[in-house]
Amino acid sequence: MKALDELTFDNRFARLGDAFSTHVLPEPLDEPRLVVASNAAMALLDLDPAVADTPVFAELFSGHKLWAEAEPRAMVYSGHQFGGYSPQLGDGRGLLLGEVYNAAGEHWDLHLKGAGMTPYSRMGDGRAVLRSSIREFLASEALHALGIPSSRALCVIGSSTPVWREKQERGAMVLRLAPSHVRFGHFEYFYYTKKPEQQAELAEHVLNLHYPECREQPEPYLAMFREIVERNAEMIAKWQAYGFCHGVMNTDNMSILGITFDFGPFAFLDDFDAHFICNHSDHEGRYSFSNQVPIGQWNLSALAQALTPFISVDALKEALGLYLPLYQAHYLDLMRRRLGLTTAEDDDQKLVERLLKLMQNSGVDYTLFFRRLGDESAALAVAKLRDDFVDLAGFDAWAELYTARVARDGDDTEEQRRGRMHAVNPLYILRNYLAQNAIAAAESGDYSEVRRLHEVLSKPFEEQAGMEQYAQRPPDWGKHLEISCSS
Ligand code: AMP
Ligand code: MG
Repeated sequence: MKALDELTFDNRFARLGDAFSTHVLPEPLDEPRLVVASNAAMALLDLDPAVADTPVFAELFSGHKLWAEAEPRAMVYSGHQFGGYSPQLGDGRGLLLGEVYNAAGEHWDLHLKGAGMTPYSRMGDGRAVLRSSIREFLASEALHALGIPSSRALCVIGSSTPVWREKQERGAMVLRLAPSHVRFGHFEYFYYTKKPEQQAELAEHVLNLHYPECREQPEPYLAMFREIVERNAEMIAKWQAYGFCHGVMNTDNMSILGITFDFGPFAFLDDFDAHFICNHSDHEGRYSFSNQVPIGQWNLSALAQALTPFISVDALKEALGLYLPLYQAHYLDLMRRRLGLTTAEDDDQKLVERLLKLMQNSGVDYTLFFRRLGDESAALAVAKLRDDFVDLAGFDAWAELYTARVARDGDDTEEQRRGRMHAVNPLYILRNYLAQNAIAAAESGDYSEVRRLHEVLSKPFEEQAGMEQYAQRPPDWGKHLEISCSS
């Protein structure tokens, strides 16, 4: 276990130099205070969890103090936003403080979001508000606990600094951890600004540090792109299987590592709705729940375009062709597991589709349905769930197919099947209204609800005593909350 001053830095991205990032010092927030910290994320840095309660912790992650070895940098990138190319983006309010390596030899970027203005702030103030910082913190740690690849969050530090959005709010900072902060948009930036040398340097950097196994392949860059395609297919399959809607899948928000990145107006589905749009500025539904699948491919094509100096167009197209079949295979595998199935049959895809259609038509709670399906024998579970459906004949027909399918599946015991299902079907997810309750309390100075919610979501598959209120459908006020895009 380390103390805060014992972290070991190795700032590999900063060493790429000024063509890639700009030195900027964080601008401190007034009266910093710890809102919430993640012990699991602290462990990634070998930090003793007790350090979160020391004053220096809040000072370090609110811009008041800095390690001597840190080299805070704002990264430059660009990207496609809602389908259109934005030539100049970059860290407008976040800083890569440095890279820390832990005892296991893993490197973690320390990225402080809300750290003030940078050369890439455009019209923005460089700040992040408490509300959005709490949402990013809760989401990254909750996704990780569900087994969905994601950037992580060490802590949220609140403050008394006023920040103007639709109304006056308070500034906060969230400390994000990820093995890399390189986005698709980094490659696009050097491609569209016609800087082939820097682009090659960036490609080498990512290949050496994050895809070293691809070095062994005859075409390392192509192998790396294929791996990125595969990771994205798997990540998006998990989003779809667990009902996660990212909301802003612009290429500047897509990590080169295939991890969920840059949380904005995201949401988990309450009622199943394939057409759900969580970002209320997304008028055309470009990033609606079901569109995430084709948009994943669109984004990979945008990255492929930026990689044409290194890889032939035919090879890129072939690699892109892997995306959909891989996505479908991962998705079906996850859905089979959610249904408690261990074997594969040709009609399983149809079984899933029929169920989702029924859920869609009846507004059935996506998470609780699967959880309850694993509570009892298949026959008993469907009998109890039947009342949630409007099309009873439709549901009965599905239930008959399902119970017969379960009976054919394997020869494990009823109890084993239920255990398997509960291990993949969460009881607790980050529902928007739960986040909203925690935010409202935090905005009035009470951080206990954020901390409790974080705690509950860190064990989403485990029924926790006294936490029934976190495993409920939203109350009327909490359905279809409009989450502001301003953050
Ligand atoms: P986002 O939609 O949060 O991914 O942000 C898109 C771009 O806008 C990124 O380059 C951000 O750094 C920048 N940005 C977002 N909010 C702010 C802000 N309050 N101040 C400065 N830049 C911002
Ligand atoms: Mg972003």
